Amino acid sequence: MAFAPEQVFTDEACSERVFDEMWTANWWWKIQELLPKGATIAPLILSSDKTQLSQFRGDKKAWPVYLTIGNISKEIRRQPSAHATILVGYLPVAKLECYSEPMRSLAGYRLFHYCMSKILEILVEAGENGVEMVCADGRVRRVHPILAAYVADYPEQCLAGCCMENRCPRCAVKPDDRGSPVMSVLRDVEWTLKILDEHKRGQEPPQFERDGLRAIYQPFWRYLPHCNIFACFTPDLLHQIHKGVFKDHFVKWCTTIIGEAEVDARFKAMASHPGLRHFKKGISSVSQWTGTEHKEMEKVFLGILAGAVNSEDIFVKLEIQEHFNIPKLHSIVHYVDSIEALGSLDRYNSESPERLHIDFAKEAYRASNKRDYTEQMVMWLQRQEAMWTRGAFCAWVKDQQGLIDGERNNSGSESLSEESESESGAVPIPTPTSSAPLYAIEKKAPFKNVTIQCLAVDFGAIDFIPALTTFLCRNIPDINAYAQPKFV
Ligand SMILES: [Zn+2]
Repeated sequence: MAFAPEQVFTDEACSERVFDEMWTANWWWKIQELLPKGATIAPLILSSDKTQLSQFRGDKKAWPVYLTIGNISKEIRRQPSAHATILVGYLPVAKLECYSEPMRSLAGYRLFHYCMSKILEILVEAGENGVEMVCADGRVRRVHPILAAYVADYPEQCLAGCCMENRCPRCAVKPDDRGSPVMSVLRDVEWTLKILDEHKRGQEPPQFERDGLRAIYQPFWRYLPHCNIFACFTPDLLHQIHKGVFKDHFVKWCTTIIGEAEVDARFKAMASHPGLRHFKKGISSVSQWTGTEHKEMEKVFLGILAGAVNSEDIFVKLEIQEHFNIPKLHSIVHYVDSIEALGSLDRYNSESPERLHIDFAKEAYRASNKRDYTEQMVMWLQRQEAMWTRGAFCAWVKDQQGLIDGERNNSGSESLSEESESESGAVPIPTPTSSAPLYAIEKKAPFKNVTIQCLAVDFGAIDFIPALTTFLCRNIPDINAYAQPKFV
């Protein structure tokens, strides 16, 4: 975990900067300067993603909101088993049939912002003044939790940014200009709020239409300190690059030029090499394209094209594509800004929420009776979390014991308790008298449904019944109150 920003360079002269973890990037430095001396930032990474709960009943949906912090390294955040990401709430998935059709979607947008501001209400005060927290290293710091990144798919980015879906949630580029590689003016929080307020008062500001805004007057980020929601939207490599630009557009264009059979033949002819996947049947027969498949194809795609196409820009000339006014293509112009502000993109993928849905939504739904399920899901998750926390605590106690035992063996038992007490301030945990026995057994039984007599007669295990009786009496103390176990 990191509690302060850093700058990393490849050389001693500090000429080449490296952007990797969030604490190596510029956002953290910029916000640190705005806070009082000694303040610690907890950069919040939120993600929200609507998901279906059941494959067969399409109307059962959940809309979880997840939270993690940039202080934790990407490597740890990546592992679902590390529990570095938590569920902070479910947003309502309401049909809003009480509203007339034209008003329904706007009511839905407003409901989203209302619920998000309820969930994040606590951050207004905490972000501004900081809260004293005990950190993982045992120190107490004044921590300012500040929203730094928001991971969501394109429609949800537009929803959070209060803009129409034909616009860019980061900048005010015109809908027709998204094909040109130009930088437009970035959206600004103060400015956007000002226009929304004017619109609310009925002043009809021309910028409202120009910036493609939606009439959401209380966006959830309005009062969040130091939060620029538009800069929070991180690139989504899976949907924008791998599934979007590469699969939906680039592969399609190239296949039209070269022909499907030729593309397949070239994939088949590709020499195999460690680290490269060999598509021995070509790619036209691949029915399920996963993120991994895209990346494997991207590695060799340039080689596939070599010699087959003219090297000039010919998509337009060959009338394969009329224009490049494609939102996903436009999003690439913001990548460098985003990397410099928030670090490398590998952990801002919308793949992570998709994986979390299994633990935090689908499993929870499965455990419910499928009626009024949200409350049951929350209860189930609270119990799971309690069990996990307890398990983690027990593992920690065991680790500590291991350490103490290790030291005791090294340095003698008498001096140890004083030393460890004075060094770490922790009282050593008493060691149990005997360590728990370990059993190694086969996973699969070679003989099934064997009677107990058969164990003694056929296998000669004559001590089995007395041993089992002793085991049960010792480990289930109340068993004597019912009856002495008898095996026949
Ligand atoms: Zn843009």
